[in-house]
Amino acid sequence: MADGRRLTDLAHQQVAAVAGTGDEVVDATAGNGQDTLELARLVGETGRVHAFDIQQAAIDQTRRRLTRYGLMERVTLQLCGHEHLLERLPPESRGNIAAVMFNLGYLPGGDKKRITRAATTLRGMEQAIQCLRPGGVLTVIAYPGHPGGSEELDAVKHWFQHQPRVLDAVRIVEPGGNAPVFLSARRPSSQP
Ligand code: SAH
Repeated sequence: MADGRRLTDLAHQQVAAVAGTGDEVVDATAGNGQDTLELARLVGETGRVHAFDIQQAAIDQTRRRLTRYGLMERVTLQLCGHEHLLERLPPESRGNIAAVMFNLGYLPGGDKKRITRAATTLRGMEQAIQCLRPGGVLTVIAYPGHPGGSEELDAVKHWFQHQPRVLDAVRIVEPGGNAPVFLSARRPSSQP
């Protein structure tokens, strides 16, 4: 959908503003692997992408896509929920991640019941903030149009709006209606 595509581009712009060659980044919802692919290109041969998804189909699609482009060596796939981000990342990655991207909802073309849910999404975002390096970026695209989507969006928006101590530069782009919503923030450069 056109709106979703525009917001995905926005997310990648935000990430590319702070992350680049040799960096470590996270795709918290691998889905069909499109974001993982763009992240793998961004971090180059010396960088690393950690990509999470709870569905084998998503992990398989992502592996196929990255393999097709010869970039799988830069990627670690985790068949695991992003609410386990902290325990799944190597200890040395904690505090060293340049960007974490969430693209919520269901896998396009997949099982529409296997969606991201507010409780685990919030836990994932909490952990994402702890993994980010100072100045690192968190981006989220949320979809109010499917069952459960608007509740999840409300929870995510509330979270972004009530983290003044740990988030800087909060940005929310909300076109309205059922259109997808973009949210981003930075981990402050100097932590309180
Ligand atoms: N809605 C987007 C695509 C989102 S894909 C679009 O239309 O382009 C979202 C992915 O998140 C799915 O593949 C789903 O399996 C995954 N997911 C659901 N819960 C998750 C969790 N707790 N941790 C990681 N991934 C999860």
